[in-house]
Order: sequence, then C-alpha cells, then structure tokens
Amino acid sequence: GATIGMLGAGQLGRMTALAAARLGYKVHVYAPDAADSPCAQVCAAMTIGDWTDLDALERFARSVDVVTLEWENVPVETVAHLRRFVPVHPGGNVLSVAQDRVAEKRFVNGLGIATAPWREAHSAADVAAARDAVGPRCILKSTRLGYDGKGQARLDADTDPAAAWESIRAPAGIVEGFVTFTCEVSVIVARRADGAMTAYPAVENRHKDGILDITLAPARISAGTAAEADGIARRIAEALDLVGVLAVEMFVTPDGHVLVNEMAPRPHNSGHWTMDACHCCQFEQLVRAVCGLPLGSVERVADAEMTNLIGDDVLRWPELLAEPGARLHLYGKASARPGRKMGHVTRLTPRR
Ligand code: ATP
Ligand code: MG
Ligand code: MG
Repeated sequence: GATIGMLGAGQLGRMTALAAARLGYKVHVYAPDAADSPCAQVCAAMTIGDWTDLDALERFARSVDVVTLEWENVPVETVAHLRRFVPVHPGGNVLSVAQDRVAEKRFVNGLGIATAPWREAHSAADVAAARDAVGPRCILKSTRLGYDGKGQARLDADTDPAAAWESIRAPAGIVEGFVTFTCEVSVIVARRADGAMTAYPAVENRHKDGILDITLAPARISAGTAAEADGIARRIAEALDLVGVLAVEMFVTPDGHVLVNEMAPRPHNSGHWTMDACHCCQFEQLVRAVCGLPLGSVERVADAEMTNLIGDDVLRWPELLAEPGARLHLYGKASARPGRKMGHVTRLTPRR
C-alpha cells in the first residue's frame, strides 16, 4: 500500500491515520516535537525534525507518496521544498491565505463574500483608527498563529487601544467589528484535484472560554441559511483550487445571512461528529481527496452532539464509557493541562 506523509503530530493527524489505516494506507508523520504526541501510538513512522531541516524534509518526502497536513501554519517554504519531491495537498497557495487573517479576509471579500468589517493594525494608533472605522465594539486579533481565542483582545469605546495592542504581543493585527450573531456555524468541504466536491451539512458551534465546547449537527438554521453557508464554503474551496478538506467558520446574523469568520484547510474539531454519524468521516474524506480516490458519501445517518473534553474533563471518561450511546474518543495525550483538547464524546439521536 501507499504511504501518506502527515505534517504535524496532533489529534487531527492521529484520527486521519486511523482512517487511512482502514483504507490500507500507512502514515509517516513529520513534526518538530513529538513529546506526548497523539500520533506516536498509531502511525507507521515518525520523523522528529524542524520545519527548516531541508535534508530531513527531503528524506521524509522521498519516503511517502503524497503529503498532507493537520496544521495550517507549516511554513510555506517547507511546503515548497517538499513539493520538489512529492505532491503536497493542500498546497502553499492555500496555506498562505489561511495563515494570515488579513490575507484570508482579503481573499474572501475578493470573492464577493461578506465578513465583519475589518482593518489592519501595526500599532496602537492603527488600533484606535481601526476602532473608529469598524465601530466601538471590536476584536483585535493577531494576524498569525492564534487559535482557541488566543492572541485576541476585545475592545469597546472605553478600552485603551495601547493596552489592547500590547496584550496581543504580535507584529501585525487585524481589528474586526464585533458581530452580534444568532449562532456560529461551520461547513467542511472536501475537494479533489479534478474539482469533485462534497460538503457536510452546516453544524452549529458553541464556545466556552474561547474554545469549542459543543457542536450540534445539523445546525438549527433555516434551509436558506444552510444553503448560503454551503455555497460559500464551496466557492472558497474552488477559488483556492483546494485539494483536501477545508473548514469555513461563519457567523449567522439576525437576518439569516452568514459572514465568514475564518477558515482552516484541514480536518476541523467541528467535524469530529462525522466519525460517528456519517457514512464517510472528514478524516477518511481527506485521505480520499489527497489520494485521488472517489470522495465518500457525506450522508448523515443520525443527528449528533459532539462535546469536547478539555483538560480535566477527560477524568470523566469512566462515566462516559458507562453511558449507553456515548461514543468516546481519547487522543492519547499524557498530561491534561488546562485548556488542552484531550478527547471528545459524540451522542447520536435519530435524524430530525
Ligand atoms: P479557533 O480555535 O476556531 O481557530 P481562533 O483563535 O482562530 O479560533 P476566531 O475563530 O477568530 O479565533 O475567534 C474565536 C471566537 O471568538 C469565535 O468563534 C467567536 O465566538 C468569537 N469571535 C471572533 N471574531 C468575532 C467577531 N468579529 N465578532 C464576534 N465574535 C467573534
Ligand atoms: Mg482559528
Ligand atoms: Mg475559529
């Protein structure tokens, strides 16, 4: 069988490797740090190396048939180097958009797709001017490397822009107008090199302390709103010439339209429910997309509620195992530091 190269060694890589194994593929992981890594237990091979170690990257590339990734912040130079030896999906063009919130917003708006109003900021003075432009209630975000709400500061009319700017400790920021949404949704789309596409139904995401807490599948939104969200995700995937899977996070406004928040060109936490409720889950879909296999059915056989197990939540695993119908997934991480995603549990109910 063929071998898939995976950049990154976290739980998304682990669950992709499990899906790959079921289709007869091996997974070789390349990551800078494998300490306590979810991939170690389930991958056929693992290389620990820096993103800048060109020799190690070349050896890795020559040992695999295709490369994909579970972390969108792999340096584009790393991907360009790998690309000399082996196909990399998604490619550097997709990563350069998804790694930078300003590039991402520009790209999305360039397709005629709406977002919150936004301005770039490179100083406290820029933050003050941006707040004047987008409205007093706004969010300052680091343009790069933020996740789980890290690298963000919320502002209102009374907030000191200098304090907000210093708090994010980043060379570049984006200030976004605060969206009063009725709910947050995401759509995960998969696309092959020949343009074939599938998308899972829009799901509803609830956050706690900036971290995804619960995903409800499907989202409790109108058919019209769901179709709008689906169309937007597909248009973005096509415009990026995506090969792989892409999650698009969106806000639903009180008038039932959607605004794009951000995107991630990889399997996404809000798609974990597909492991238990769909014919083909997001991880298998990624394998199919990057290996040029037929895409699987995204049909939902049940409705689902996925709950993340963050930090000490994981200590509840015995009680979750004892709960009939609760489907427990643990990521094999040794230490349950606060805020760390340790696993998730999915509960199914008959399709509405
Ligand atoms: P993730 O872990 O999803 O990658 P992140 O750190 O990249 O998150 P965002 O998704 O941009 O950050 O923001 C985190 C959460 O903050 C959003 O899911 C939403 O609840 C809230 N949020 C972000 N931007 C806005 C906005 N412009 N208006 C209102 N709420 C927002
Ligand atoms: Mg993000
Ligand atoms: Mg987000």
